[in-house]
Amino acid sequence: MKAVGDGARGMVCGGCGAVVPVEDPWPYRCPAASTDSGAGSDVDHVLAPRVGGERGSGADEFVFGSDENPFRRYGDLLLAKAFLESHGKKGATWEELVTRIDDAVALVDGRGFQRTPYASAAALAEALGFSGVLWIKDETGNVAGSHKARHLMGVALHQEAAAQSGHGERAGLPLAVASCGNAALAAAVIARAWSGAEACGTGALGGCGELVAFVPVDADRRVLARLGGLGATVATCERGAVAGAAGGGSGDPCLPAFREAVEAGALPFTCQGSENGLVLDGGRTLGFEIAEQHGEASGKPLDRIFIQVGGGALASAVSAGLRVARGLGACACAAGGPALHPVQTTGCSPLYRAWKRLVDGVEQRVFETGHGVPEPVTTDREVAAWLVEHAQLAEQELAYAAKHRSEFMWPWEVTPHSAAAGILDDETWDWLTILKDTVRSGGWPLVVPEESLRLAVLLGQEHTDIPVDATGAAGLAGLMMWLEEYGQPNAEQTREQVAVIFTGGLGLSDDIDGGGDEEETRQSDPNQMEGKS
Ligand SMILES: [Zn+2]
Repeated sequence: MKAVGDGARGMVCGGCGAVVPVEDPWPYRCPAASTDSGAGSDVDHVLAPRVGGERGSGADEFVFGSDENPFRRYGDLLLAKAFLESHGKKGATWEELVTRIDDAVALVDGRGFQRTPYASAAALAEALGFSGVLWIKDETGNVAGSHKARHLMGVALHQEAAAQSGHGERAGLPLAVASCGNAALAAAVIARAWSGAEACGTGALGGCGELVAFVPVDADRRVLARLGGLGATVATCERGAVAGAAGGGSGDPCLPAFREAVEAGALPFTCQGSENGLVLDGGRTLGFEIAEQHGEASGKPLDRIFIQVGGGALASAVSAGLRVARGLGACACAAGGPALHPVQTTGCSPLYRAWKRLVDGVEQRVFETGHGVPEPVTTDREVAAWLVEHAQLAEQELAYAAKHRSEFMWPWEVTPHSAAAGILDDETWDWLTILKDTVRSGGWPLVVPEESLRLAVLLGQEHTDIPVDATGAAGLAGLMMWLEEYGQPNAEQTREQVAVIFTGGLGLSDDIDGGGDEEETRQSDPNQMEGKS
């Protein structure tokens, strides 16, 4: 048996290092955050799960059983299961909890949680002029049509585990989500299933109350209709209307309203890791799956992965999952890989801005050490390699960044616009973890223009059988940009194994009854729309 990390189990704050023990039933935010709000405090308090990962034979394998449900399959690596078992046997077992809520999810959404497809896309690689091997992780057919449901199923399981372990005080409370699309849909599906899961087994569940979705005024009307159909309450938030918002009224209007609801007692059932670190737990199953499936299908290490970044929970969780897999000897993650490439659009790229700030800081440190002036580097690829060469100083700058958030991350100054509407978060909430993993892995962030996004969607749809949408194809647009930077196909590229995640697709129909698993995209029917204010 081997263990991952230093053995601490629970939630760890990336900003101040505080550890919330695994036994804590409600580890949403860093406990130091509330006592650290005084003037001059600029620590980036964000919790992330850490589980010992005490399984594995010690062989170079990262192979699990045959269970296709990722929450049962990777349960030993999840904080929620570790929490449940830390309280001894009281209520339902982990397997029973997963099965009951998952069965209810299947009733609501027409599908439960299954490992999603991971396959090479030779035709797409050829169309891109890429001579290596391109792998696509297809999340478009996941519960509620995107990866978001993984994050929220993890929260539901942890909170239900709390109720089963004698911590039922918060059972049945209302849930709150801040989202413009897929996260709200996923929250509504899981909430509906979780509150109705009694029907799927015997014994009482804690369950949850009503979901309130805080959405922007320009939210997709089909999303609003579906939310209504799933029994969620929609609260529309106008930009600039919230006086207390970060940036003096600018910035995402949904988050301040969401926070008010949480302060009033709602459970933070949202996909921003800064609001509830538990969302990263379930999201890590995506990283575990990629590591395991890549190892099975390829047998070679994965060299790089391109991940679209909005609030950052996806990239942060996948990267964390890959880190655990690497620690357990997954061959997909051999040699310190894969390199992480976060992808944002020109319409909104606060993470790239943070990376540039970090590079400036490392340059200054190199200069100050007197060991030589920074080498003249021209491309971001060269900068990334230069950061790896100066790893010690990069770590010092990352440690500085953890305590000086506002120098690296602040709300995007203008109202962001992009066809990739799902990754337009004003701030990258999980920026620090992503920045650390990007720098350490030798990757670098990519910012893609709208033309590339449009082309990525077209090529993705044409050369795979996946109905990917613009947000879902943003990682592919990042790969296209990397290819451009790389130049013509060459021998080095031919050896590359790269992965892209198609996170969401065009599967959203106007079906508002909350059921069914429509495969086709249907034309909008105005008569089915619920008005939005
Ligand atoms: Zn902290």
